[in-house]
Amino acid sequence: MREFYSYAELLERALGRLPKKPEAVRERFEVPKAEVVISGKRTFIHNFKQICDKLNRPPRHVLRFILRELAAPGTIEGSSAIIQGEIPKSTIDKLIERYYRRYVVCPICGRPDTFLVKERRIYFIVCGACGAKSSVPPII
Ligand SMILES: [Zn+2]
Repeated sequence: MREFYSYAELLERALGRLPKKPEAVRERFEVPKAEVVISGKRTFIHNFKQICDKLNRPPRHVLRFILRELAAPGTIEGSSAIIQGEIPKSTIDKLIERYYRRYVVCPICGRPDTFLVKERRIYFIVCGACGAKSSVPPII
């Protein structure tokens, strides 16, 4: 195993892991809906890890985005996210949808088969469908 790979080699390896399906039989990607329970002035997203797995994104990155948008503190515990305050499910779903459009979908071809990569503090999405590499806004 070599220690360094070029960007082209990494992309090649990433593409090699994607299932090769003709465009027509690809199922439409559905953004998962949050299972939200509000209890004791806190909001629990019980299927948070599953949502992040489906989006192929690190839970901490997804949560950071949601917390920024809500200006609320929160944490990850096990497979759940816990946010301080009472946040309606409709708001959570809207924010996950917004995350999906901003940090998952390839802006060039519109496919969701992308990877999040970080280079020198800048995040990019690399598309497994068309190979485009696009920078995405930072979550400060
Ligand atoms: Zn693309």
